[in-house]
Amino acid sequence: MIKHECGLFGIYGHEDAARLTYFGLYAQQHRGQESAGIISRDSGGMHEHKGMGLVPDVFTEADLQGLTGETAVGHVRYSTTGRSYLRNAQPFLAHYKGKDIAVAHNGNLTNTEALRTELENEGAIFSTTNDTEVFMHLLVRALRHKDLPDAVREACSRVRGAYCLLVLCDDVMVAVRDPFGFHPLALGRLDGAPVFASETCAFDLLEADYERSIAPGEIYIVDAQGEHSEKLDGPLPEKPRQCIFELVYFARPDSYIFNEQVYVCRKNMGWQLAYESSPDADLVLPFPDSGVYPAVGFAQCAELPYEHAMIRNHYVGRTFIQPSQGMRNFGVRVKINPVQAMIDGKRICIVDDSIVRGTTMITRVKKLRELGAKEVHIRISCPPVKFPCFYGIDFASPKELIAANHTLEEMKSIFNVDSLHYLSVDGLLRSVMHSDSYCLACFTGDYPVPCKECGKYRLEGACGKVSS
Ligand code: AMP
Repeated sequence: MIKHECGLFGIYGHEDAARLTYFGLYAQQHRGQESAGIISRDSGGMHEHKGMGLVPDVFTEADLQGLTGETAVGHVRYSTTGRSYLRNAQPFLAHYKGKDIAVAHNGNLTNTEALRTELENEGAIFSTTNDTEVFMHLLVRALRHKDLPDAVREACSRVRGAYCLLVLCDDVMVAVRDPFGFHPLALGRLDGAPVFASETCAFDLLEADYERSIAPGEIYIVDAQGEHSEKLDGPLPEKPRQCIFELVYFARPDSYIFNEQVYVCRKNMGWQLAYESSPDADLVLPFPDSGVYPAVGFAQCAELPYEHAMIRNHYVGRTFIQPSQGMRNFGVRVKINPVQAMIDGKRICIVDDSIVRGTTMITRVKKLRELGAKEVHIRISCPPVKFPCFYGIDFASPKELIAANHTLEEMKSIFNVDSLHYLSVDGLLRSVMHSDSYCLACFTGDYPVPCKECGKYRLEGACGKVSS
């Protein structure tokens, strides 16, 4: 299944639309490094440029100059295992009865298999494995007899799961967030023009003003007449279920999402973690970059010295010549490396945001031991990741999630550490302001949306017990 953990940007009615979109994507590069794309629109139609790789590598000055018009949508796509094709890059552009339609999607739909089969049975053909194309088919069918906002509403009533969408057709742009509000989408303003971004760090770069978050189940419409907000069809769930992993790991710490400042949440997580379990140690050592922010809170609460003694290579690209067989775990080594003088003879407390497969911990603790660490303690600023995510965070399959298959004691011995403590679910919720509005499925298995219509994954908890 193709997953989307992406970044969106859109702007309506600004003379520099494509260039601003470029920078809006640049600021959100962390949300997707696989591919980038921009579609702009002028009175002559839509113009598109997409490519594999990082934003500055995908667009040249000439590309941006070709993206004419005062309206644009852009997308960065996260790399997932395999399936790294240009044709899956977004925004997705389709042509229907003389109209150009562009869709950019962040999230993961959970009922596309059934919808795809239904559409194929009716004669639809697909050129990608992308669930955004399924949405496009539903949208185009609805557009036969409806205007764009109503057609988006109808298409959204058919899909389940996580979606933030920017849709552009003729001179209308629509921004929409699914009823649970899994992923963030913000509304801002630049020189009077409305701008949309997954994260507010994009607005900061452009010096756009942040206005507010698009609400779960909201559909925000911009056209030549102005702007207005509507609701998606159907009742809203009692509470939103926003992805707490955005706050733990995915979003940039300088962003303000879900009406929370990401940095503050991460620091609070570290503080709570130390409150729950702080070892006797000589120093707190974050694994950069993601461990840095909880480690600040951890060290302050535990009153332990904080040292940047694990150094990050900031130029690690996605691809490099594969090392020889003897150079196992090269991927982790190339990313972070400890400073020997700070480690020898010390009792080290590692702080990191999460453990997925455990590769980082196994290999780096081994190195810390080799460098003479006297004791190694691990503190993780979220609960054990035990369940797969169906809403857009790319986790390993349950078979590969180390915490799904081992007890704490087993993991302690696998990592070869003196102690191991994960932040409790309560501690995590105490670290955020709107604690009743989050999806915790990766920690608890309590899925807000049935994961597969076939029923293989059930609503309440059972998911992790079923092998995928
Ligand atoms: P692992 O080595 O597999 O245990 O991965 C753990 C590291 O990957 C942590 O330091 C996290 O910061 C980072 N991480 C957590 N979730 C993800 C994800 N969905 N995609 C990529 N990296 C992640």
